[in-house]
Amino acid sequence: MFKKIIDAISGLFSNLFGGGKKKPQSGTDTSLPNTEIPQDGSEIRPDTIVIVADEMEKVVILPGEADAGFDEDIFDEDKGGKEEPIVIAPDPPKPDPKPEPATPPQPQPAPEPKGRYLWCLDNGHGKQTPGKRSPLFDDGQTRLFEYELNRDIVARIKKQLDEKGVQYFITVPEVDIDDFLEGRVNRANAKKSNLPKIFVSIHSNAAPARSSESWAPDSISGIETWHFHGSKTGQKIASIFQKHLINETSWVNRHLKSRPDGQFYVLRKTNMSAVLTENGFYNNKAQAADLMKPAVRQKIADAHVKAILEIEQNGLESA
Ligand SMILES: [Zn+2]
Repeated sequence: MFKKIIDAISGLFSNLFGGGKKKPQSGTDTSLPNTEIPQDGSEIRPDTIVIVADEMEKVVILPGEADAGFDEDIFDEDKGGKEEPIVIAPDPPKPDPKPEPATPPQPQPAPEPKGRYLWCLDNGHGKQTPGKRSPLFDDGQTRLFEYELNRDIVARIKKQLDEKGVQYFITVPEVDIDDFLEGRVNRANAKKSNLPKIFVSIHSNAAPARSSESWAPDSISGIETWHFHGSKTGQKIASIFQKHLINETSWVNRHLKSRPDGQFYVLRKTNMSAVLTENGFYNNKAQAADLMKPAVRQKIADAHVKAILEIEQNGLESA
């Protein structure tokens, strides 16, 4: 029996940084995606019911078990037409039995594509996205921008996945592009792959504060991972990410979260299993200062890589 806690603590989450309610500033593009759609944990309003699960709960997924991992209106072409054959990479050429003595050393071939899943790494938001940035630090000029953090963490993950030969797709390869929430999801949904896809959206959180230029109370900090409510696969993936994130950072464990109503767009509209990690609070002054440090960002990236490698190793279905 899963222990679920209704977490409707008033005031813990609210949209204070303009994600949902603020009108676009004059001169900004009003054709941006519907900002009423919650994008991440910082946009949770105080009256929202949030279900908290412990990442130590055992989630058993039987082989072939169907999963309710997204809204039913998602068009999933993988389920429609005939199955495409799995393309198996040809064996590498056999070495010449008589090596020529004068051959210069050959460059190392690129690692063979391998792996169980295609990891869609979502490093979204943009510099113009309302909110999604820390108050000014004491120097009066530095801020932590969430999009920059998200992209840096994903870049660090990418480097390690390249080394391990794990397959991935980055939703925002560009540096200078703004939010385009639907575009990020559409890119991942449209990405063709013979491997099952898993969507990992990487974020940092914001706690209620007096204003966007005020730091939130020191007491609110830590890491949580969101999954589609009711998705066993999502919960299992989230539990593995949350476990490694807490192990690597030793930050406060805010466990796994999901919302029965009004789930995040990236969890609802991706046609694949999806999780969203909230890596610390960018408006907690001490945590934001930590998030500016390359070593801390590396730990967060390492935790994501460990989770990916654990799932690559074991898969998600129980034997
Ligand atoms: Zn975010």
